[in-house]
Amino acid sequence: MVRIQGLRCQDVACNLCRGSESEHLFTVHSFNVVKCLNCGLVYLNPMPYPEDIANVYDSREYYCKKGHQDETPLGYADYAMLEGHLTFVANELLRPVRHIKTGRLLDVGCSMGIMLNHFRELGWDTYGVDISTYATEYARDQLGLKVFTGEVEKLDLPESYFDLVTMVLTIEHIPSPRDTLEALHRLMKPGAVIIVATHDIDGPWPRIVKGRWRYLNVPEHLYFFSKSTLKRMLEETGFSTFRITETATIAAATSNETLLRAPIRFLHRYLLMTRVAPVLRSLHAINRMLNLSDDVTLYSRRV
Ligand SMILES: [Zn+2]
Repeated sequence: MVRIQGLRCQDVACNLCRGSESEHLFTVHSFNVVKCLNCGLVYLNPMPYPEDIANVYDSREYYCKKGHQDETPLGYADYAMLEGHLTFVANELLRPVRHIKTGRLLDVGCSMGIMLNHFRELGWDTYGVDISTYATEYARDQLGLKVFTGEVEKLDLPESYFDLVTMVLTIEHIPSPRDTLEALHRLMKPGAVIIVATHDIDGPWPRIVKGRWRYLNVPEHLYFFSKSTLKRMLEETGFSTFRITETATIAAATSNETLLRAPIRFLHRYLLMTRVAPVLRSLHAINRMLNLSDDVTLYSRRV
């Protein structure tokens, strides 16, 4: 056991292939980012203990630190202010699966439940789960949502329960994505769809800026997937991927960078977001052709 920035950390094997041979890529805020020599998964090693990581998300400050962005790299600028944008992102996420009849939906890493609340308005029977006590209390008390506090692995729900699972900017925070996906596999109906959105370390921008990539925000992010490592992780846990796309606007919603947030806020304030949506979609398509994005969303079916 070593301590890095006050967090207890331990050496871990690769969560994708179980290999233990890795090469050092970067050191960020005293944490080592390594790449598995066998499968290419990028992760923190040593990795903080799950209990210590959970504490990071347990304060109101993580979700609302307006005006304090410079004092700490953790958390969202002002989560609740982003409701309009998260609603937009939720609609965009569901577009490729809009033919699916509404049923039971689980949002993993639901945070304060803002997207989940929108899914409920669309007719889904919504459930959420998140590690944060503060965020889940907000979701239950303020929004009246069915939200559990803790890990997916500990959910006390029947097998083959869900028709759709969403995991938006969550998988990179989870100590063992493999265990979480295996637990989700049990909870999902055969043929049910899981939507996983995360950042793509194989994008051209992270290749250029290397150790200064904005999503190397440790120790919140424990894993740095690429399209191929994420697809393989899903395959190995019983999912078959049928669509890979970019959802760049998601990152803008949760970014602490004012430069990214300002135009998004402007569009929402003047109710222009829906009008520019086709333009954004075209930009995403161009992004996809040129492979410029550093975000990725996988749509996979439970086998
Ligand atoms: Zn590996």
